[in-house]
Amino acid sequence: MRTAHFGAALVIRTAVRSRLKTKGGKPLIITEVFNCPECTKPLRRIRGGANGPFWGCTGHPGCKVTLPDQGGKPGQRKAAQLSNYPCGKCGAALVFKQKKGKGGYAFWGCSQFSKGCRTTYPDKAGKPVLSTAK
Ligand SMILES: [Zn+2]
Ligand SMILES: [Zn+2]
Repeated sequence: MRTAHFGAALVIRTAVRSRLKTKGGKPLIITEVFNCPECTKPLRRIRGGANGPFWGCTGHPGCKVTLPDQGGKPGQRKAAQLSNYPCGKCGAALVFKQKKGKGGYAFWGCSQFSKGCRTTYPDKAGKPVLSTAK
């Protein structure tokens, strides 16, 4: 019996703790640890980004994962939509990306960028130009 409940008890405790944080309307100080979806190192909340607070990985600069802040917790990652186009170097799926701002452009990058594959392809009408890897 005890062993059967061991795992479940841990999960419940985490859930109760996170519910306490949002009780009373005001965001409380966060003691909960959120882990990076990429490298599993703890995330930390960074105040005063250009668009307000956000979450960054403590594995920075090795890991460049950032998450938006949602009510004091890391929110959903900006949808990095994996395409069906494979990276010519490592075979992982390519991701459509857009550089914003002045001179912004669209391109395709390898989804393994954070793991070291820096392959990118120019975009042509919504498709990667696979013959011109950079
Ligand atoms: Zn990380
Ligand atoms: Zn790649």
